[in-house]
Amino acid sequence: MCPVVEINLFRRTYTIRPPPSTTHLRPPTSKAWANLFADRLSEAGQLRSYLKAIVDKTWDLTIWLQHNSNATPADADVVIEATGQVIGTFAKLIRRHEHGEPDRCPRCESYRMRQDIETDEEQMGLWESEICASCGWQSEPEFTSLHDHFEGTDVPGCLSSTGIGMSDRLHPRRS
Ligand SMILES: [Zn+2]
Repeated sequence: MCPVVEINLFRRTYTIRPPPSTTHLRPPTSKAWANLFADRLSEAGQLRSYLKAIVDKTWDLTIWLQHNSNATPADADVVIEATGQVIGTFAKLIRRHEHGEPDRCPRCESYRMRQDIETDEEQMGLWESEICASCGWQSEPEFTSLHDHFEGTDVPGCLSSTGIGMSDRLHPRRS
């Protein structure tokens, strides 16, 4: 059976599988697990080296704290912050792994792409396009009727709950 790690971050569960070539290995240590996932989440190079280094150093730091009878609250704070840095870094890479690379502007290659939505009351629908916040490039607007937009949606339920409505389209992953 393929070992799987599920990481709960920000109330979402991410499932990451190690490379198939490693599934025959005995259960590795926490450091080894982290190194497997560093391999999975990054290309060989500076980023992967950085991931492995912070995992190695942070793990050693936590062990040092655990066995240091003279450790102070400040020492514990340092370890907590270091651990948070590791978790935050992996969270970003897991998010990239799950969602892929962000869109780039076809004109200037900026990552500052925004979704623009304009309502059209006359035609009872929405015009959606992508706009580059750097150079102002805009994709061809696409029309979606309100009927299609809300198809399969519990409209009375949405209208009676707080913070959900047409702007829900701006937060497509919110449930
Ligand atoms: Zn641009």
